[in-house]
Amino acid sequence: MAYATINPFTNEEIEDFPYATDAEIDAALDKAHEAFLSWRETSLPERAKIMQQAADILRRESDVYSKLLVLEMGKLFSEAKAETELSAAIFEYYAKNVESLLKDEVLPVANPAEGRAKVIHEPLGVLLAVEPWNFPFYQVARIIAPQLSAGNTVLLKHASNVPQCAAAMDKLMLDAGLPDGAFRNLYPTHAQVSRIIADPRVCGVALTGSEGAGSKVASEAGLVLKKCTMELGGADAFIVLEDADLDKTVEWAVFGRHWNAGQVCVSSKRMIIADSIYDEFLTCYKAGIAKLKMGDPMDPATTLAPLSSQGAADSLKKQVEEAVKAGAKAEEIPLEKPETGAFFRPVILTGVDHKNPASREEFFGPVSMLFRAKDEADAVRIANDSPYGLGGSVFTRDEERGEKIARQIYTGMVYVNHPTMVKADLPFGGVQRSGFGRELIGLGIKEFVNHKLIDVVDINAPF
Ligand code: NAP
Repeated sequence: MAYATINPFTNEEIEDFPYATDAEIDAALDKAHEAFLSWRETSLPERAKIMQQAADILRRESDVYSKLLVLEMGKLFSEAKAETELSAAIFEYYAKNVESLLKDEVLPVANPAEGRAKVIHEPLGVLLAVEPWNFPFYQVARIIAPQLSAGNTVLLKHASNVPQCAAAMDKLMLDAGLPDGAFRNLYPTHAQVSRIIADPRVCGVALTGSEGAGSKVASEAGLVLKKCTMELGGADAFIVLEDADLDKTVEWAVFGRHWNAGQVCVSSKRMIIADSIYDEFLTCYKAGIAKLKMGDPMDPATTLAPLSSQGAADSLKKQVEEAVKAGAKAEEIPLEKPETGAFFRPVILTGVDHKNPASREEFFGPVSMLFRAKDEADAVRIANDSPYGLGGSVFTRDEERGEKIARQIYTGMVYVNHPTMVKADLPFGGVQRSGFGRELIGLGIKEFVNHKLIDVVDINAPF
């Protein structure tokens, strides 16, 4: 698909952008490599200053940036403001912590004859970031803030429906004082993405997106022996035990499944409810969803945004129909829907058994699957009956019990009494079909560095 801005609230095409030429790609690769040679020598405090400037600009011009998010992917303005702030917080996190995160590590060796050993963290070179549209700034910040701080340079291939957000990130980094070429947005075709991955100057690839894109890009990186990280889809379990605070849990459930119009990799997609409170939860959950209001994402009264495109709404509808054909029961919550725009009325799916393929799928929009759990062990079994392994949550008044269950859930992140969170100072990533590698904090910055051993052996040591 060509790069274009189509307003999901009106379905109107605003502007399109031509694909990059091969010459543009080559020039960007040349520049990114050249920039790397000096950027890697730039001191950590100097790099930190630029990350802080990026944070400051995002905060200062928050409305301008946030409106672009609303225009291109239709999210609520309030959510766009929160995303812009979160992105700023990520830049600031690395500005404040890069020196300690990349500190040399002295190794406690067993025998002095092994020398004075330390591990230092050196940047690798040019990286490619392939990013999705659901958080157009946050996803980019999550990779460029740590990787530029580490001394790498980055080329960006953003999703084809958020070209202006991608260009805004490019401009942000230049305005923040980053040397030209150290971060560049491109509008490549998928074939050109393959060419970039194969270029010998490119040292690694970070992709956030669907399993399909992940397996293609990871296999291409594997062919040329390049490190990659994969942040892919998810179907987070939202376990509610019989001792949970029901009112609060229902509020979190409605939020966890419907923020960003349900288009979050860590949305609470599978609600697993203890048998004894299932009926009450369902009644309250439906009532909670019925209070949502669809409408103009710029209107503060709107609480459920349109999906990112009409195509996304159409394919979600088909996916629900397939789930029903395979035996599920679908109940649409009859919210009033604006006449135009990629709106999708929330749907609750029940009766999804293990044989129904829907039980192992990701619904990327406001579709909740509800499962009845016989007991605690059954809840854990249902939670783990998924090819994904991104996030998840457990609701209970007993925090110790919550943590015990959290340990039994096979995912990268589990929260007790909260849907999976996104924060600047918490790591993010998954296992199984949700991918591999971690983004953010020290784990993220160390994904694309050379952990180099330097060992100084005493010149007077005996042979
Ligand atoms: P997508 O279709 O996989 O797109 C993601 C990115 O990959 C886009 O830039 C896309 O570019 C590119 N891409 C797709 N196919 C490609 C190919 N064959 N070669 C090169 N690049 C390719 O995913 P999406 O629909 O935009 O995003 C939704 C998915 O992302 C969901 O599964 C969601 O769970 C996942 N996600 C995961 C995380 C996480 O951190 N784990 C976070 C957010 C979203 P084009 O637009 O040009 O196709």
